[in-house]
Amino acid sequence: MRLRNITGSREAIADSIYVIHEPRSCRGRWREIFGNDHPVRVEIGMGKGRFIMDLAKMNPDINYVGIEKYSSVLFRGIQKMEADPLVNLFFIRMEAEEITEVFGRGEVDRIYLNFSDPWPKDRHAKRRLPSREFLRRYDEILVRDGVIEFKTDNADLFQFALEELEPAGWHLDQMTRDLHRDEEMMRGNVMTEYEERFSSRGAPIYKYIISR
Ligand code: SAH
Repeated sequence: MRLRNITGSREAIADSIYVIHEPRSCRGRWREIFGNDHPVRVEIGMGKGRFIMDLAKMNPDINYVGIEKYSSVLFRGIQKMEADPLVNLFFIRMEAEEITEVFGRGEVDRIYLNFSDPWPKDRHAKRRLPSREFLRRYDEILVRDGVIEFKTDNADLFQFALEELEPAGWHLDQMTRDLHRDEEMMRGNVMTEYEERFSSRGAPIYKYIISR
């Protein structure tokens, strides 16, 4: 997702109390940051943040961190937080590649990847968020029984993600190629902005849940 450059979005982010400004200094200190020992769940590529904000509202005993690389997009999330603040959610403007510099071993309980950029060219496969390179990073920061939940409308990206599991040493716990018609996996589903857009056009949504 890329929005037109929004004037002042960088400044608004720099001033926001909902944004972690020195994320590397939080590594190993997330309990202190949130002021409790509740589990920490992270969405990588949160876009405007509807999904993670809905989750944070529904689950006050879980801590959430939303990561987004573009300020113009993150700015929308900040505006929503200002209107309806949540104490169990922080945002970070950063590149997912740096995730192991921000979270230490076992600091994360669950990772959400929702409608990640497909990077269709083979030579960009390493940039795909469900690639084996990223799975290795997630392995470093997730608790032992931690899981990754991935949703996408992109059949090729989903197929790629499935094929990465074995070489990376991950286990497929659950999967569907049509989430909205899968009663079991749909239970408790929280829609993302992209999911609403694609599913309203009749596109199937793919989802997996994986663990080590
Ligand atoms: N999760 C949202 C947005 C999906 S679009 C939803 O489902 O509605 C994918 C988002 O991921 C975009 O906002 C994009 O800027 C962000 N993103 C993609 N690659 C990223 C990366 N490497 N690091 C951080 N954010 C990334």
